[in-house]
Amino acid sequence: MIWWHTVGDMDVRPFWLAGSPATGDAELTVTNPHDGRVVGVGSVPTPDQVEQAVAAAHAVRKEAASLPIHVRAEALAHVSRRLSERAEEIAQLISAENGKPIFWARGEVGRAVATFRFAAEETRRFSGEVQRLDTEAAANGRLAYVSRQPYGPVLAVTPFNFPLNLVAHKVAPAIAVGAPVIVKPAPATPLSALLLGELLAETELPAGMFSVLPVPNDRAGALVEDPRLPVVSFTGSGPVGFAIKDQVPRKHVTLELGGNAAAVVLADADLDWAATRIALFSNYQAGQSCIAVQRVIVERSVAEAFTSKLVAAVENLVVGDPADDKTQVGPLVSVEAAKRVEQWVAEAVAGGARLLAGGGREGATVAPTVLSEVPEDSKVIREEVFGPVLVIQPVASVDEAFAAVNDSKYGLQAGVFTRDLDVAFRANKELEVGGVIIGDVPSYRADQMPYGGVKESGIGREGLRSAMQDFTYEKVMVLTGL
Ligand code: NAD
Repeated sequence: MIWWHTVGDMDVRPFWLAGSPATGDAELTVTNPHDGRVVGVGSVPTPDQVEQAVAAAHAVRKEAASLPIHVRAEALAHVSRRLSERAEEIAQLISAENGKPIFWARGEVGRAVATFRFAAEETRRFSGEVQRLDTEAAANGRLAYVSRQPYGPVLAVTPFNFPLNLVAHKVAPAIAVGAPVIVKPAPATPLSALLLGELLAETELPAGMFSVLPVPNDRAGALVEDPRLPVVSFTGSGPVGFAIKDQVPRKHVTLELGGNAAAVVLADADLDWAATRIALFSNYQAGQSCIAVQRVIVERSVAEAFTSKLVAAVENLVVGDPADDKTQVGPLVSVEAAKRVEQWVAEAVAGGARLLAGGGREGATVAPTVLSEVPEDSKVIREEVFGPVLVIQPVASVDEAFAAVNDSKYGLQAGVFTRDLDVAFRANKELEVGGVIIGDVPSYRADQMPYGGVKESGIGREGLRSAMQDFTYEKVMVLTGL
């Protein structure tokens, strides 16, 4: 049963309190960043309702940890199937609330289908192990059973840029290990997470196993600090993530943070492929991905040829209405975000950078921008732009290229376009990042692989198996007298 009420001509979407729909005492209006139209109205839980959700998660934690694997797997598989059945409707919702081109929104739904499916498969394999201890005489007759136990309820704090799949990356592994989960979605894009709640409510999971609480940022601290939520899994910006870590140093905190990802183009690369991929993936989601290409480090001998191919590919991108099937680049999440990006580009140009493409802004949309000869201390090199801006940096050698990649406070992923296997292994050894992508952009992510950063890009790993390990600890039982 859903108790809807109406604001203007919009139904208010309930949030999910311990597996049931509920409405609070305030509304949250979600608008499309492309044209400002209202996409939906959510409801904000009261502090009392937040308390009920946390108490329910705490109360169900033991039952959750002992849920049979087939029950968890079936619930996860159900969500995967239902996402697939409702894919187009969900893609339209993501596109509308986030401004993401529908092409990419469909891709995000497809990835979430896979994320839940991988979790359903992985939970069946996640079995612990038996270790013989009689490798030493002192342990004759002893055997260890090593299992993984959930720490307890997970608080999942998620960003606006992948409002479905990055929620899936926390909810699915939590259910897979038998941990209740409370989702606090980004205020700009809560509707996809609320819809996911609807699908979870169709499963046989016990009440209290999940809640989706769109509380405002100034009330999120209470959830972070609540001792009944021992795990905080955060994806978002560095300042907020590290503040959370400082706030609760004794909790198990995972941080998936930002980056200023680099693609290295070496002289032996296929320049057409590199230019096409880098153009697309510096601008996909208007650059609002933690692994969007921001810096392209190119060997000087091919820099001129590569740059002209790159600029042509960037100028070919279709910018416009995210609802249009052909659009490749849509708006940023807000006009303020677009103005900040425009300002950073203007600062670089004022400092001597050459504008090779783009530079303009219309509303929340920033034209795909390429810069060269950018001063080293510019924000567009040093910080995370989180917009459709690419900086070209020519280098003389592989050594210089790798040094340039590492000359960053971030370290999420790096891409290296080369056909030389020795250089590929060198990159894997020398680049200070969580993932090295050979032959493609740093923006490549398969949802089942370990994913996360070093340096200021984060702490811990996602990817189904990695997140399941992250939400659990090893517990050993020793059997004596065998
Ligand atoms: P953000 O840090 O502004 O917000 C992230 C989440 O934190 C939101 O749900 C927000 O409401 C919440 N939040 C804000 N203040 C809080 C507080 N005081 N206490 C608790 N929660 C609080 O990030 P964003 O703008 O939504 O997302 C963009 C950032 O996310 C970028 O830096 C991007 O690189 C990063 N990101 C990282 C990954 C990754 O996997 N490494 C993936 C996507 C995005």
